[in-house]
Amino acid sequence: MTDAAELRHRTRELLAAYPPATTGRRDFLRARFDAGLAWVHYPAGLGGLGAPRSLQAAVDAELEAAGAPDNDPRRIGIGLGMAAPTILRYGTEEQKRLYLRPLWVGEEVWCQLFSEPGAGSDLAALGTRAVRDGDDWVVNGQKVWTSSAHLARWAILIARTDPDVPKHQGITYFICDMTDPGVEVRPLRQVTGEAEFNEVFLTGVRIPDSRRLGEIGDGWRVAQTTLMNERVSIGGMRIPREGGMIGPVAKTWRERPELRTHDLHQRLLALWVEAEVARLTGERLRQQLSAGQPGPEGSGMKLAFARLNQEISGLEVELLGAEGLLYDDWTMRRPELVDFTGREAGYRYLRSKGNSIEGGTSEVLLNIVAERVLGLPAEPRTDKDVAWKDLAR
Ligand SMILES: Cc1cc2nc3c(=O)[nH]c(=O)nc-3n(C[C@H](O)[C@H](O)[C@H](O)COP(=O)(O)OP(=O)(O)OC[C@H]3O[C@@H](n4cnc5c(N)ncnc54)[C@H](O)[C@@H]3O)c2cc1C
Repeated sequence: MTDAAELRHRTRELLAAYPPATTGRRDFLRARFDAGLAWVHYPAGLGGLGAPRSLQAAVDAELEAAGAPDNDPRRIGIGLGMAAPTILRYGTEEQKRLYLRPLWVGEEVWCQLFSEPGAGSDLAALGTRAVRDGDDWVVNGQKVWTSSAHLARWAILIARTDPDVPKHQGITYFICDMTDPGVEVRPLRQVTGEAEFNEVFLTGVRIPDSRRLGEIGDGWRVAQTTLMNERVSIGGMRIPREGGMIGPVAKTWRERPELRTHDLHQRLLALWVEAEVARLTGERLRQQLSAGQPGPEGSGMKLAFARLNQEISGLEVELLGAEGLLYDDWTMRRPELVDFTGREAGYRYLRSKGNSIEGGTSEVLLNIVAERVLGLPAEPRTDKDVAWKDLAR
């Protein structure tokens, strides 16, 4: 197995062959992928070297210190955090070869066509249909809240291929080409005024069977890999101390003594400690991840992330008083990424409301923790043996 010394050696070889100062950004990233230094735990030939995931941080640090460009992970978060691990686990060799390199390099943005107007928390109830027609599937339906659909080249899509079996069984997982003429993307405006996400109408979209991921009817199982990874990628990002939402409020506290009160001090300290505990728990989760697939523990991290972001941004608005209420940019922008710390307090306050909804609502994550971590009795599920077509809608 590739060890730390071998990775260091390969990193230096890469830097010598492709000096960041004189190599174009994309060229450097492609060379990094081909050298197996993109995600070192992926197999050789697919951007990795089959090394322990925990060795990635040292590679990243050495490349960063040498001034190497990164692949702008926040811009391609859905591809990196959700599509890639699903393709790696369920994709054919050809699919892996075709999609993973442009995904990691950032040449192709991915989005997630899961939620529908009638299927969010109860995702397995989804009604978008995929019907087999020769070597293709013909897809019709509507998806909603699709982040980055307007930027995306590809989507991970789940659709119903068999309405005659119970809802979890008749779903199949596909890779959808967002440039297909049957794909229509319309912006949806959020409370921030921006339109990060979209509704997506799929009308007669033809998807070749070669873009199916996993077996026919096994899409629910494949989607679990995506969803587990989604929670980890939303709640478990690596951040330095004071790197998250707590950073801007701590900075304001230090720089603006005139705003301080005793009560706010106590609350800020308590939240600072909680943010640090959550950050360190995230580190532990990542170490656990290097030993296997993400488990339901990721749901706990995502829960804490959502609650803390909302409480901390609320405290920041309170600390700033009237100034904290200023939010003067109501133009409908189409941001390429969610930037919590580079924006004003009002943006953080408004945007963090979505944290307890996206990637599974906090109520649903509490159910997952209750059932799969604590082993408490499951919610009654009266529809699990009923054919999807017979469910009340
Ligand atoms: C910023 C943002 C980005 C998003 N990006 C994407 C994306 O890129 N792709 C995508 O597919 N989706 C995306 N979503 C959608 C997101 O996954 C859904 O909004 C979410 O799963 C909830 O579904 P819903 O909106 O249909 O609400 P519902 O499922 O209708 O829930 C309504 C309320 O009922 C509660 N509830 C539902 N079921 C239960 C239960 N069993 N027990 C207790 N309470 C329950 C919920 O917690 C919630 O409060 C995004 C959402 C947001 C906010």
